[in-house]
Parts: sequence; C-alpha cells; structure tokens
Amino acid sequence: MAFHRTASDRTRAKRCDVGNSKRPAPGPRREDYLSHRSWTMAQVRSKNTKPEMAVRKAAHALGLRFRLHRKDLPGTPDLVFPARQTAVFVHGCFWHRHDCVRATTPGSNVDYWEAKFDRNVRRDAHNVADLRKLGWRCVRIWECETKDVKKLAGLLRQKVAAKSLRIRK
Ligand SMILES: [Zn+2]
Repeated sequence: MAFHRTASDRTRAKRCDVGNSKRPAPGPRREDYLSHRSWTMAQVRSKNTKPEMAVRKAAHALGLRFRLHRKDLPGTPDLVFPARQTAVFVHGCFWHRHDCVRATTPGSNVDYWEAKFDRNVRRDAHNVADLRKLGWRCVRIWECETKDVKKLAGLLRQKVAAKSLRIRK
C-alpha cells in the first residue's frame, strides 16, 4: 500500500474517474455509500455533492440568489451570494474534520490520514483568510447540517440572509 502515501490527490482522483474499483486508501468504506457512483464522487470530493445540492435547494427556496463555484475566488467556494458578499463552503465532515461523529480517523495508515486532514484544514483556513481579505463574508456549512431541511433553511437564514432580514424588520 506504499504508493497510497505518495500518490497525489490528482492521481488518485483520476484513478477513480476511470472506474478503478480498488480503494485508493482506507477511509469511509465503500459499503457506507448508497452506490458505487456516490462512493466514487465522495472519494474525489467533486462538485455537486448531495450536501451541496441540499444547500442550493434551500437557498433557492429562500429566494437567495447565488452563483456556483467561482473559480476566480480563493478555494472556489461552493456557493457565492454576490448581493451579500458571502461565500459558502459546504464541507464533508470526514474530510474537513467537523467536530462530530462523522469525522472518524481510519485505524490504519494513521500518519497518512492525519497529514491529509491537516492539509485540508489548513487549506480551508487559508482560503477563508484570503476571501476575508477580499471583503467576503465566509460561511461554512457542514455535511451533517444539510440532512434536516428545516434546520438547514434556518441556518441559511441566520448566516446568509440575516442582513436582509434585519432590514425588513
Ligand atoms: Zn458533521
């Protein structure tokens, strides 16, 4: 399993794309996902994930206008609300280390995983700092916060729409 430690994310993502069914590294188990496709998507942490779609749907229902994946902004935020100068990241609890039950650490290759998680967390902090410097408000929504539609709407109302709601009162 030595190559797993050295393979770059990109190489591993590609390997997933071409349908190699071998697990790139021990992480969330394939059985944990509903289908091979959703498992593969989670491995490459691609766009348009289920949690992301839930956030879009909730934002849309609240009448908030947003744009997706602005590549010209640090970290390519998942959603951007230009009228509120707010960038939203929808983060997987496992990959981005939410303080919740989903953020397990695999029992083997612990060094590999800890280094990887550390890189992810640092990158996230860096992106937020860069965005703030550019005048953006940043909001992070965790995967586990997207399961309950009502709670998610409340969260968006509070974190994204708060400004306009205050004006309306
Ligand atoms: Zn979580």
